[in-house]
Amino acid sequence: MNPRAELVSTGAELLSGRSVNTHARLLGERLGQLGIALQRDTTVPDVIDTIQETVRDALQRVDLVFVSGGLGPTNDDVTRDAVAGLLGRRVVMDEASLHVLRERMTRAGRALNPARERQALIVEGAAALSNAVGAAPGERIEQEGKTLFLLPGPPPEFQAVLDDHVVPWLIERRVGDGALPEELLLLYGLGEADIVQRFESAGFPPDGVRTAYCAGAGRVEVRLLPEPGVGDEPLRAAADRAAELLGADVYARERIELEALVGGLLAEKQLTLATAESCTGGLIGERITSVSGSSAYYLGGLISYADEVKVRELGVDADALKRDGAVSEGVARQMAEGVRERFGADVGLAVTGIAGPAGGTPEKPVGLVYIAVAHPRGTDIRRNVFPGDRHTIREWTCRAALDLTRRALQPA
Ligand code: ATP
Ligand code: MG
Repeated sequence: MNPRAELVSTGAELLSGRSVNTHARLLGERLGQLGIALQRDTTVPDVIDTIQETVRDALQRVDLVFVSGGLGPTNDDVTRDAVAGLLGRRVVMDEASLHVLRERMTRAGRALNPARERQALIVEGAAALSNAVGAAPGERIEQEGKTLFLLPGPPPEFQAVLDDHVVPWLIERRVGDGALPEELLLLYGLGEADIVQRFESAGFPPDGVRTAYCAGAGRVEVRLLPEPGVGDEPLRAAADRAAELLGADVYARERIELEALVGGLLAEKQLTLATAESCTGGLIGERITSVSGSSAYYLGGLISYADEVKVRELGVDADALKRDGAVSEGVARQMAEGVRERFGADVGLAVTGIAGPAGGTPEKPVGLVYIAVAHPRGTDIRRNVFPGDRHTIREWTCRAALDLTRRALQPA
């Protein structure tokens, strides 16, 4: 059985831009691993009628409905009442949850007032799902062969109840056939249209294999999915063929961040890295050190924002800087070679660019970024003109810098 699921996210704050809805992403991922398709996420305000109407529609379409948020003690927490009303059930006190709540409060030296007690209310007939990191339990409700889960809104609580109760229950009941097989290619360099063009001119994909794309900040994820009845072998063969067609722009065949990939390559080759950042102001260092174990290969970095720091700390030639400007190929090269030498690293990575919105000229527009990687075999330099606002340009720069580094470490 490969059932389908829907999520109803409740909370006015999700619609007004005050909070980002992260539940759909987590739920979609967890269900996907079980082979259950999350088909729809509807976000609604904390209004009883709207919640009822949305949950009713979802129950008509699918077998599994998740409702998140609105289980707390405040007067805008109406999910439990809305669902009880819809199903024609009462709301009752769950003694076991109340007991847990009372013990927790006693331990914390606080009183269990009536408002707090409301968090132990559940829909009559529901199974309470204990919440390891918060007060309100989740609930599992069976109704006419369908299953409804109510989950708390705060993301850590949503995740805890999902992982502690929902996922184990789905696994135990064998709901879902396991994740559908897929092959993955991650690329940096080629855009979606370039990829499609290459595939089309080579008559790819073969019968029985479907392609799906997801792109962002220069990175493209290509997924190859089998039609029903197509086995692992033809799918793998298609992925090998795709990798051949796309060449060195493919950096991985599994889901991995560039910083982790670069870290793995450095560790494997026992090489060290140092960075000199201008327009990214330390973002690249942040990315690299977000990988646990990065101390094995990352020596450190310098945020060389001002010209005099580039000259004094990295040995950039002051005349060249004056003549060509800080955003130039020569300065990028000297920054990378300078940081490599001064930090005693095997690989030096440097970026210099114009993140905007001010500071662009016709010859040097906003978004112009030079990236240089100095390594034992020489120095590679890439000139880019990135689109978007300051934030976007800095993001693209990080990815492009990590990509140029991995290319130096994994020569074609
Ligand atoms: P509480 O007991 O804390 O009141 P609750 O179950 O009543 O929990 P809400 O009041 O709806 O949940 O939301 C609590 C917090 O969780 C809010 O900060 C809200 O922004 C956040 N939250 C709710 N739904 C989501 C969501 N879909 N994605 C991310 N954050 C969410
Ligand atoms: Mg609340």
